[in-house]
Amino acid sequence: MDLSVEQGCPQCGAPVSMAEADRFFVCPFCRVSSFLVSPAGARYVLPCGRNPPQECGDLYFIPYLRFRGSIFLVSGREVSHRIVDTTQLGFTSHPFPPTLGLRPQAMKLHRVDAQTPGRFLPLTIKMQSILARAANLSGLASRGQATMLHRAFIGESLSFIYLPVRQEERKLFDAVTGNALPPVPAASFLQEKSRPFQPGWRADVIAALCPRCGWELQGQGDSQAVPCPNCGTAWEAGGRGLQPVSWQQGESRDEMAQWLPFWKIAAAIPELAVSTFADYLRVTRQPLLDGRSATEGPMHFVIPAFKVRPGIFLPTAVRMTLSQHLFHLAPGGGRSSRRYPANLASSEARQALKVTLAASSLDHKEVYPLLPRLRFTHVRAALVYLPFHDDGHDLIQEQSGLAIAKNVLSWGRKL
Ligand SMILES: [Zn+2]
Ligand SMILES: [Zn+2]
Repeated sequence: MDLSVEQGCPQCGAPVSMAEADRFFVCPFCRVSSFLVSPAGARYVLPCGRNPPQECGDLYFIPYLRFRGSIFLVSGREVSHRIVDTTQLGFTSHPFPPTLGLRPQAMKLHRVDAQTPGRFLPLTIKMQSILARAANLSGLASRGQATMLHRAFIGESLSFIYLPVRQEERKLFDAVTGNALPPVPAASFLQEKSRPFQPGWRADVIAALCPRCGWELQGQGDSQAVPCPNCGTAWEAGGRGLQPVSWQQGESRDEMAQWLPFWKIAAAIPELAVSTFADYLRVTRQPLLDGRSATEGPMHFVIPAFKVRPGIFLPTAVRMTLSQHLFHLAPGGGRSSRRYPANLASSEARQALKVTLAASSLDHKEVYPLLPRLRFTHVRAALVYLPFHDDGHDLIQEQSGLAIAKNVLSWGRKL
């Protein structure tokens, strides 16, 4: 479920309600498009009672890590996956509630900023350990004796949500509900462990304009990358603002084609002596069909750049990666209202390389044992849009024949 965050429009100041994963928004009052520059791990606080945190007096903020996304596990002979949506306590030196339960979903969150009064407790365990705990809680553990060979977290959102607490001497109170919490061992305990707002946490809202030509970028909601409709560049939303990204598009004669975004990620795998697509076909033991053996082009992974359930994401990544010789890519350009938003960041798509390799491998014995120490080199991501034909029920990729049911892409979006 998406959390709701209150944000002021930088142009007119009107309050705008955004979903947690949103990067772009159009102000409903002044119609100006804005873009949120937010460091990795956006930070939010729960409201204390009915008031914004600025009006709650001095508080301590207890960190919870919220992760929503997919977890993939490669163990023994199989790749398994789960969707995870969890909020886990990140400060473990005091018995605070282990999770926030459903509270973040029921409340309007506020972004942490320099005006947020109070001090912040740090994470006392590594983010990876928190995610591993979430994976275990989701029931996704290696079965029986099978060893875990690889685990990947592909996030749709990863953020900090702070629980405000009020202190009176050694007593602590949950500032959201007013309920008592276990008392601290000494009155100075939280003061000593905490620190004030850090400048690196700051999120900025800026006008969504192409950094090259100044044209308004038509990002929607949670778009992570957008082509400029005017100058042929494309931009990815990063922690430091809009970063240029190279982009390409496939070939179609269908005027009604729908264009779905993928991350085409160049990568070599030294441990398996893979640097070309032909090498990849060899190590994954693919049957040599439709001229694939002839392809000596560099190896690319072709990973969905859109959010989709893990049970669809992974087979799509495998099929598109194995079809990479068919796409006839050319530099991207022009306008299209038929592009589906690229709402999965390239950094998340990169997390999918090992599971895609594992799921592509027809002979597990060759590839699986190497997974833990395998490294990818020369990694470079480009955004590509590939044409799909709408047959009413499915979208069918024109060159590879891959079908994606239309209803798995529906987030209330037009396509
Ligand atoms: Zn406005
Ligand atoms: Zn431009």
